[in-house]
Amino acid sequence: MERAIARIDLGAVRSNCVRLKAELGEAELCAVVKADGYGHGADRCASAALDGGAGRLAVATAAEAEQIGRRFQHIPLLTMGALTTDEVDVVLAAGSELAVWREGFRELLAARARAQGRPARVHVKHDSGMGRLGNPDPDRVLELARACDADPHLELAGVWTHFATADEPDADDGFFEQQLDRFERVATAVKAEFPAAMVHAANSAAVFRDRRAHFDMARCGVAVYGLDPFQRDPAEHGLVPALSLRSYVADVKRFPAGASAGYGRKWVAPEETSIGVIPLGYGDGVRRGLSNNAEVLVRGRHHPLVGTVSMDNVTVDLGPESEVEPGEEAVLIGSQGEDAILAEEVAARLNTINYEVTCGISARVPRRPA
Ligand SMILES: *Cc1c(COP(=O)(O)O)cnc(C)c1O
Repeated sequence: MERAIARIDLGAVRSNCVRLKAELGEAELCAVVKADGYGHGADRCASAALDGGAGRLAVATAAEAEQIGRRFQHIPLLTMGALTTDEVDVVLAAGSELAVWREGFRELLAARARAQGRPARVHVKHDSGMGRLGNPDPDRVLELARACDADPHLELAGVWTHFATADEPDADDGFFEQQLDRFERVATAVKAEFPAAMVHAANSAAVFRDRRAHFDMARCGVAVYGLDPFQRDPAEHGLVPALSLRSYVADVKRFPAGASAGYGRKWVAPEETSIGVIPLGYGDGVRRGLSNNAEVLVRGRHHPLVGTVSMDNVTVDLGPESEVEPGEEAVLIGSQGEDAILAEEVAARLNTINYEVTCGISARVPRRPA
């Protein structure tokens, strides 16, 4: 029995990649392992993703590039985020490819690559509507691609974009298709001049939403971990959740009617019942917004989380007839017996998305293979 642990099913990560590869056909799968693999542990998940058919990896930051680059030296790696000058040096030393969308940054990169004695492989980013990183002008994107190709210290690896609304098929305002059309024109022009450059656009949602978005490669994060990109049941797309968050019942106490659980007495027993105390809380990333607003599996059954989530404890109502004993397992995310609690369900209660739920599990919780 452990106080709190995130069990990671690496077989699920592998099978989710097999599933994505089947969807992608010829297009390559790039597994996104930023933010410690969406809270699942980047190193192990990257290995499992490569086993499942991913041919490339991507991260967001320089520190992530350093970690993943060291561990997977022969796998192409893309660092997707904006970088300071110092970070550029770290990313280049890690052997990672980089994103470029401004001429000034292209020049800086060329100078730093020259100083390190090895050409930098770059992906020119088109902002087709995300309104974040990338160059919104298609002509500038093409000019940047030419400048990268012509520079002896740079190699043009690809041209890419990112969707703002791929995960919202019900919005149906046509914005996803507009972005796709805009990028398709850029991609066609790039391919005509630079047939070897990879063009890529899709995140997990776009892979399932539209084959036209696949291009040469998809950058998939959330689906790799078996989280549903549309905030529904991952099983609908044949995905298997990889993470479960487990703890145990540290104490069981009998509450008379009127007794309260936790700070502020935010829950008062309406009748006599048994309360289980589970020793994890917001210090572990179990958000305080789940106070009186979550369920926990004990003995394969759902029990309401009652009272306030504290830093180190939560309380659950086991019911008046409960025979649960201290030491039994408690599951906050994942399955137990026939029943399961999805990260998507937790996210809905918190008005957020599954990404934030798993990324939010704190460093206090060890990640271990299931
Ligand atoms: C995080 C990220 C992805 C992966 O998105 P998912 O929705 O998790 O598949 C792809 N591209 C970029 C630019 C990203 O930042």
